[in-house]
Amino acid sequence: MMDWHTHKPSAYGGYLCSVVREDWDFVAAEHGMIPCFGIHPWYAGGVSVAQTAYDLDEYLSRFPQAQVGETGLDATPRHRDALEAQTLLLQVHLGAAFRHERLVHLHGAGAWSRLLELLRQREKTGTLPSVLLHAWNGSHEMAREFLDLGAVFSVGVRELSHPDAAARYARIPADKLHAESDDDPDSFPRAVALLALLRRDIA
Ligand SMILES: [Zn+2]
Repeated sequence: MMDWHTHKPSAYGGYLCSVVREDWDFVAAEHGMIPCFGIHPWYAGGVSVAQTAYDLDEYLSRFPQAQVGETGLDATPRHRDALEAQTLLLQVHLGAAFRHERLVHLHGAGAWSRLLELLRQREKTGTLPSVLLHAWNGSHEMAREFLDLGAVFSVGVRELSHPDAAARYARIPADKLHAESDDDPDSFPRAVALLALLRRDIA
């Protein structure tokens, strides 16, 4: 068992995701975790897309065990003005992940349908990498659409405590839905326990 999405080194191991470019060397250091290189959509503004593409290629070549993330889209009121910049940057991450055959950690707050559209487009052109949708909080119906594209999901205490958690998560196959701690490594055991309870009570 490991933490499928976190930004802080964790005793449980798992995927250690960067948030900004300056994090990359830190996540790549020896933490006993899998480093993920990316730029979070909240920080997409003002980032050079070409430079990021270049850096991603270089880091993914240098660290063959590394994955890509965090990246994605955020269409919540505070961030939706930057959707165009977010989209350009996301495509660079997806392209690099596809070429290097890595998993991409996706953020999609308020933007799951946009993400679905964009991933479907890439599937059509044969350039879709493996993707993980982190903090997944969409409907079960939409989860099935993403599952058809080969996606996996991770959820934390925040998502698992939601009144709709059972309807959203209990029917996703166990090997496609994993526990994460995001910014709070201490919350990981509770996320694992909540996920197990939810499955036991529904199955
Ligand atoms: Zn995150």
